[in-house]
Amino acid sequence: MAVAQRFGAEHRVLVTGGAGFVPSHLVDALVARGCTVVAVDNFITGSKDNVAHLADHPRFTLVEADVSDGLPSHHPAMTEPFDAIMHLASPASPTDFASIPIEILRVGSLATLHLLDRAVTDRARFILASTSEAYGDPQVHPQVETYWGNVNPVGVRSVYDEAKRFAEASTMAYHRYHGLDVGIVRIFNTYGPRMRPDDGRAIPTFITQALRGESLTVHGTGTQTRSICYVDDLVRGILLLLDSTETGPINCGTEHEVTMRELAETIVALTGSESNITYVTRTADDPEMRRPDLTLARERLGYQPTISPQEGLRRTIEHFSHRLG
Ligand code: NAD
Repeated sequence: MAVAQRFGAEHRVLVTGGAGFVPSHLVDALVARGCTVVAVDNFITGSKDNVAHLADHPRFTLVEADVSDGLPSHHPAMTEPFDAIMHLASPASPTDFASIPIEILRVGSLATLHLLDRAVTDRARFILASTSEAYGDPQVHPQVETYWGNVNPVGVRSVYDEAKRFAEASTMAYHRYHGLDVGIVRIFNTYGPRMRPDDGRAIPTFITQALRGESLTVHGTGTQTRSICYVDDLVRGILLLLDSTETGPINCGTEHEVTMRELAETIVALTGSESNITYVTRTADDPEMRRPDLTLARERLGYQPTISPQEGLRRTIEHFSHRLG
C-alpha cells in the first residue's frame, strides 16, 4: 500500500539527536521536503560537522541541549508548537554501553517522557527510534514484531536494550492514555557515511582497518549474522512511518543477512586492501543472528529497501577514505 506524504512545507519537525549519524540523514530528507527542522543534540556521540552544510539554511536550527533534562523551552526555536517530534537521540554503539551507560538509560527513559509530554501539548505525531536490540538475543528468526524478545535485563547491553523497551512502553502508554498519535520503528543494523570510524560497530571498524592496512578484527568465529541496511533506505522507511498513521512497532532494515566473516571479506575485496582477518573474543550477550521480518513494513508502509550491500558499502568506503585522508 502507498502512504501519502503527510509532512512537508508548513510543518515544524523536531529531531532529537539531529547531529548524529542516522538522524542527520533524516534531517537532510526533512529539509529537502520543505519542513522546518529543529535538531537538538548534546554532541555526546554526534558532531556539528554532520549538519554543517545546513548551518545557514533558513529552515534549519541546531540547538545544543541534553534532552534528558527536558527541552530548553526558553530557546526561540522551541516556542512554537511542533507538528512532529522524532526521538532519535541515543548513543547506539556497543562501546558506548560500557563508557556512558547512565546517559543511555537517561535518554531512553527521562528524555522520552519529556518529549512525549511535549508531543501531547503540541498535539504532534511522535516517532520513536527503537531498535532490533529490543529483541535481545532472539530465539525466533527472522524477528517478527509480535516476538517479545530475549533480553538479559542486567547484562552489559541492558542499558540500551531495556531503555529502548522502556521507551516503547512509554510511547504506547501515552498512545493509549492520551490518545497520542505515535509510531515506533525498530531499526536494524544501519550503516553509511557519517558513522564514527571508532564507534565499535562492525562496518566502520572493518572499513577503517582495511583502509589502514590493519588486520580486520572479527569477534568470535565470525559466524554470527546481521542484516545490514544502507542509511538512505532506512530514512525512507522512517519517513513512510512518519507519514502514515501506523503505531507500530514496525521493523525497518533489510532482509539481506551476512555473517561477520563474509562482511569482513567483502570489505577487504571492495577496498582492495591487503589486510588479513583475525578473530578476537566476542562481547557478552552479542546476538547470534539478526534479520527483520519486513512483512509489516511492506504491507502497511509499502517499504522496500533498494540499495544493494555492494553499492552501499562502496559509498561508505568512499566517504571513509575521504575522511581518513
Ligand atoms: P548516533 O550516536 O550517531 O546518533 C545519536 C545522536 O543523539 C548523537 O548525535 C548524540 O550526540 C545525540 N544524543 C545522545 N544523547 C543525547 C541527549 N541526552 N541529548 C541530546 N542529544 C543526544 O547514533 P545512530 O546510529 O545515528 O542512532 C540514532 C538512533 O537510531 C538512536 O536512537 C539509535 O538507538 C537508533 N538505532 C540506530 C541503529 C543503527 O544501526 N545505526 C540501529 C538501531 C537503532
